[in-house]
Amino acid sequence: MKRLTGFQPTGRLHLGNLLGAMLPMIAAQETNESLVFVADLHAMTMDHDPARLRELTLETATLLLAAGLDPSRTTLFAQSSVPAHYELHYLLECATGYGEAARMIQFKEKSARGGPVRLSLLTYPVLMAADILVHDSDEVPVGDDQNQHLELARTVAERFNKRYGPTFRVPVGVLPAGVARVMNLADPAAKMSKSAAGDVGRIGLLDPPAKVRKTIMRAVTDTLGEVRRDPVGQPGVTNLLTILEACGGSADFTSYGALKTAVADAVEEMLAPIRARHAELAKDPGHVRSVLDAGRERVLPTAEATVRRAKEAVGVY
Ligand code: AMP
Repeated sequence: MKRLTGFQPTGRLHLGNLLGAMLPMIAAQETNESLVFVADLHAMTMDHDPARLRELTLETATLLLAAGLDPSRTTLFAQSSVPAHYELHYLLECATGYGEAARMIQFKEKSARGGPVRLSLLTYPVLMAADILVHDSDEVPVGDDQNQHLELARTVAERFNKRYGPTFRVPVGVLPAGVARVMNLADPAAKMSKSAAGDVGRIGLLDPPAKVRKTIMRAVTDTLGEVRRDPVGQPGVTNLLTILEACGGSADFTSYGALKTAVADAVEEMLAPIRARHAELAKDPGHVRSVLDAGRERVLPTAEATVRRAKEAVGVY
């Protein structure tokens, strides 16, 4: 089973990325063929700074390696280094309706915020379909927010196959059991995210230990005074319990203070070795780049073959 996961370098990786995507992907290295890419093209759908994008792309790759991605088993590459992604993107745009793209919730939400809207924000799910289909992926781990995009990828692949003959492997979305969904510590109704708005309650994987502890000790809870799982009535406490369990701790506390201290200790234990490995790897960016380059070489034959099949199917030279 070939499994594909992408990380957008729109900001710095956080605890939600680690517990919800990176650790499950690293655990699956034992059993699955995994492709992991830094989705730098997707980081261009909103206003972006080229120098920061370059820096975050390398940092994201470095952190994936620091967290335990083994490049001898998992292929790591940068999306923009594989032209087949762009080529297939266009071919798939010609098999996608404007209405289908405009219906995507993320497009509707982001474009409704005002300000100029890049055309790529509309076509982003089609590029995502290309990302998935170009590598003949079997499985794509998806959370709720990406489900609609994966469904679009499946719809477009099936339509293309029906119209032009069998061309793409149609992937399925998987949500590995027990994977944590980490909420913002200052606003447990919102998912922890890379967006600037979520800065206050976010734990960055490279945040200094004092900042991590402070963010956890200040986490929003409630006035009920009971430590128990209740995502609706006690979202803050539930989130702390989720984080604690995902970091390998167990909870039997009566006070929120004791719970927060245990969460802070468990998170620090999880982050300290990643921070240390990141510091080592960051001394040699040439090595990280060489891992990305080797990853590109490994995926090119399949990606180019898929584009060739798709071009032949639609009748272009
Ligand atoms: P992104 O941050 O959008 O590039 O997402 C990269 C991966 O991290 C995807 O597989 C997401 O589902 C996962 N992810 C992002 N935020 C969270 C979160 N707060 N909790 C759990 N998983 C997350």
